[in-house]
Amino acid sequence: MKMIGLIGGMSWESTVVYYQLLNRLARQRLGGLHSARLLLWSFDFAEIEAHQAAGDWDSATNCMLDAARSLEEGGAECIVICTNTMHKMAAEVQGAVKIPLIHIADATATAIKAAGVQRPLLLGTRFTMEQDFYKGHLKNQHGISVLIPDDAERTSVHDIIYQELCQGEIKPASKQRYLDIVSNAADAGADSVIFGCTEVGLLIATADLDLPAFDTTELHAIAALDFALA
Ligand code: GLU
Repeated sequence: MKMIGLIGGMSWESTVVYYQLLNRLARQRLGGLHSARLLLWSFDFAEIEAHQAAGDWDSATNCMLDAARSLEEGGAECIVICTNTMHKMAAEVQGAVKIPLIHIADATATAIKAAGVQRPLLLGTRFTMEQDFYKGHLKNQHGISVLIPDDAERTSVHDIIYQELCQGEIKPASKQRYLDIVSNAADAGADSVIFGCTEVGLLIATADLDLPAFDTTELHAIAALDFALA
């Protein structure tokens, strides 16, 4: 089994889910006492969020490069960035190491294509929903065009991620807000939903929705374990 290098702590609330999923998957696939071989670099998310909020993506990228190089030096055989947003600098991270980066949007696109849906709604941080690094990757690498919520809805989705989910708060009213946003998108033609933030699955479950849903945390963990066992 290869050693998986995780860049986590963004937030740790979802990194915990990666850790649990990777170990459970290893046990399911290999049985008995097997668990995942991994190295975890976990940031103080307050530092990263300050760079994001200030638009200081150069400093955020430097943090990510430092983490990736350290994981490689420590023996990791792949890099898994445990957040959708921080795939903004995925190309720079891949350029800084020789080991492969397992891209969260590639893992997600594989599942979307297998499900045969055409117009997924993308729920994530404002950066992920509005900038091109994620939507562009899905479109250019995989031919998948996403819908995004309207401006007021994007504000809600983003604020709930940073002010609640990343701080361990799960509120029924916020869950209802997300479900309403999904319902509005379905009326506008969305045929599926991407949980494009690794904390979204803490608030809503695929079973809460009438539409097919793609939880990037789960799909990314599966892709990482597939790599480790290949
Ligand atoms: N974990 C989140 C994501 O998947 C948001 C936190 C971050 O900015 O990294 O985008």
